[in-house]
Amino acid sequence: MEVIETIEAVRENVKAARKKGKKIGLVPTMGAFHRGHISLIERAVKDCDFVVVSIFVNPTQFGHGEDFEKYPRDFDADIEACRKAGVDLVFAPSTEQMYTAENLTWVNVEKLTDTLCGQFRLGHFRGVTTVCAKLFNIVQPDIAFFGRKDAQQAIVIKRMVADLNMPLKFVICPTVRDTDGLALSSRNQYLTEQQRKDATLIYKSLQECEKMLKAGVTSTKEVITQMRSILYQAPSINIEYVGIVDAETLQSLDHITGRVLAAVAVRIGPARLIDNILVDAAKQ
Ligand code: AMP
Repeated sequence: MEVIETIEAVRENVKAARKKGKKIGLVPTMGAFHRGHISLIERAVKDCDFVVVSIFVNPTQFGHGEDFEKYPRDFDADIEACRKAGVDLVFAPSTEQMYTAENLTWVNVEKLTDTLCGQFRLGHFRGVTTVCAKLFNIVQPDIAFFGRKDAQQAIVIKRMVADLNMPLKFVICPTVRDTDGLALSSRNQYLTEQQRKDATLIYKSLQECEKMLKAGVTSTKEVITQMRSILYQAPSINIEYVGIVDAETLQSLDHITGRVLAAVAVRIGPARLIDNILVDAAKQ
């Protein structure tokens, strides 16, 4: 396994692999791996012949006052995990390698970024799509792998790939959870024991949503009120949003009929945590 910092060396390695007819997979990450990351890497190793994992805490997707400096970093353990999983190349660039002093070109996906997290993290998705466009141009993968855990991110990047005719396949992998339902996240490390317990209410609220939709409730307002009441059980939880939106357009709905994304973002202590589920209300 190669660990590489420069764009040039990544291009050389990938070119050599492609020459041998290998199918190239890319898993973009910010490191501090947990089983969620590993599930994406394992899927890439299964589906591809040459797997690139990028580890880059991308400054342009963090807003002022967010946790860029404090974001967990565990490079040695990440490298070891990649080696164990059968990764071929780890791309771990510096910020200087990825961005010139003054970056003037940005990729912006409209509409899909106006809702949910986009309302609260201004400029976040612009940073995400720009860095992913760069990574796709550098690695030129046949397939890129993303997690459902960051559902809006996956939908936004998928749209960028389609709108800009990027020649790659896009795979979205299921959310990996702890046994108590909490979605694994690098930011769970910020939580105290009590906050970690309280955080299980996030998935409980999403399960309640699914239960209500299965029971035939169609009023978004009714479901959201019930979800909020579950989250209110823990005083440590500050709700950022609870949303039920169309699974394709991410626009709000008064009445739930087809495939919807139920999504929650909360702050618990220093952590901002998100989670979501997809429910097909037509199938109940
Ligand atoms: P991050 O390092 O947080 O930027 O995440 C890198 C990739 O891992 C993204 O595509 C995430 O959606 C995905 N990911 C993060 N947490 C999970 C999880 N619990 N289950 C599945 N995928 C995840």
